[in-house]
Amino acid sequence: MNDNLHQLRCFGCGARISGPEAQPDFRCAVCGDLFEVDYPGWGQRQGNDRPNPGALKWLWRERRCSSEELDHSGVWRFRELLPILDSFGDAVTLREGNTPLYALPRAGKALGIDQLFAKHQGMNPTGSFKDTGMTAALSVARERGFKWVACASTGNTSAAMAAYAARAGLRSLVLIPEGKIAWGKLSQAMDYGAITCQLKTDFDGCVRVLTQIVREEPIYLLNSVNPYRLEGQKTPAFEIAEAFEWTVPDHLIVPGGNLANSSALGKGFRELHELGLVARVPRITVVQAEGANPLVRSFLANQGTAMEPVEAHTRATAIRIGNPASWRKAARVIHDTGGWCLDVNETEIALAKAEIGSEGLGCEPASAVTLAGLKKLRAKGLVASGETVVLLLTGHTLKDADYTIDFHRGTLLTGQEAAGHEVEIESHRRDAVAVDATPAAVLAAMKGRMG
Ligand SMILES: *Cc1c(COP(=O)(O)O)cnc(C)c1O
Repeated sequence: MNDNLHQLRCFGCGARISGPEAQPDFRCAVCGDLFEVDYPGWGQRQGNDRPNPGALKWLWRERRCSSEELDHSGVWRFRELLPILDSFGDAVTLREGNTPLYALPRAGKALGIDQLFAKHQGMNPTGSFKDTGMTAALSVARERGFKWVACASTGNTSAAMAAYAARAGLRSLVLIPEGKIAWGKLSQAMDYGAITCQLKTDFDGCVRVLTQIVREEPIYLLNSVNPYRLEGQKTPAFEIAEAFEWTVPDHLIVPGGNLANSSALGKGFRELHELGLVARVPRITVVQAEGANPLVRSFLANQGTAMEPVEAHTRATAIRIGNPASWRKAARVIHDTGGWCLDVNETEIALAKAEIGSEGLGCEPASAVTLAGLKKLRAKGLVASGETVVLLLTGHTLKDADYTIDFHRGTLLTGQEAAGHEVEIESHRRDAVAVDATPAAVLAAMKGRMG
């Protein structure tokens, strides 16, 4: 029915194609760049034909009380802004989205920022923001009649894909880098019935192999080069705007790996602005790990106009990506919104994660780069105390329990990494202690820790 509601527009050369015309690897046949989903009708509509902002805001909120399954999804309740399916009845949902926005009072106080919040995307059905993208792109795969879907993954994409594929009755193939993904995530792909191959290469190598496979076999690619994933991943922008009564926060800080999520959130806010639902967009800042910082290097070298891949090293496995596919889109979001692109080291990540944990929230190491990055920006005087800041926490703390345990046991950071931070690290460490099974021994252990 809505064949011409959406088009794919090449981010590089502007070429336009219809959705089903895309190549299996989602690269532009003309220039090789990525596509973005575009809704040409929105610009053309005039006057009474334009969506009414007040009516949409009312409708989206009303749907939270509806008894329809689709309305319970924090992605599909905004479906007027992602008309990517011919029939919304094809949507595959696990009731993703509608994630909590928490205040971070202690971290805010320590930084001298009154209004500091965490949008916790780790509270999605499989524990990461990838669910919001997967419900969108996997629904397209089902509608187009694919029997197989596939992704290369640092872990969370495969967990999300496997779950949504299982719900839809599709088969799924996962390629992961050997030894470099967290057990929590790998176990999810197995639990949801994916065929999982561990390749002796890194994430970027897995992408190369999978690209060849999807060119030859009728398998639908669900990496974030798939532009429909970004349509789902833009919806937290709508939720954030809604949570602030359609004023927007001053600043949103997002981790950067393959750089699709920052691109998607930027698109979400841009569309809200273009459609007249919000009066401005927040500054969007991207934070990478120091050992996986190709976009940071690109901003230092040439303002984000060209990017050299790097060999990626960080214990924050979700952002261990040296050749991010969506870097051009993310660079544009940073430019257009006046945000920054910066990196943080392993010690800064570990400490920030412990602080988020001690607020009773917890998150994946990759998510903690947001707080670590904010601390750096604040130290440089780039964030004022009166600003409203939202950290996007991308994944759940249980995804990588080994990391947390290693930190608290004191085995995570090397002596060199910890040097100069010993006191701060000690103040956060809460290792489990072995004591005799007597009240006196337990009380003694508490005293030792209460000083
Ligand atoms: C995928 C992922 C990221 C990185 O997102 P990109 O879109 O690849 O930049 C960050 N954190 C977590 C927990 C993730 O799963």
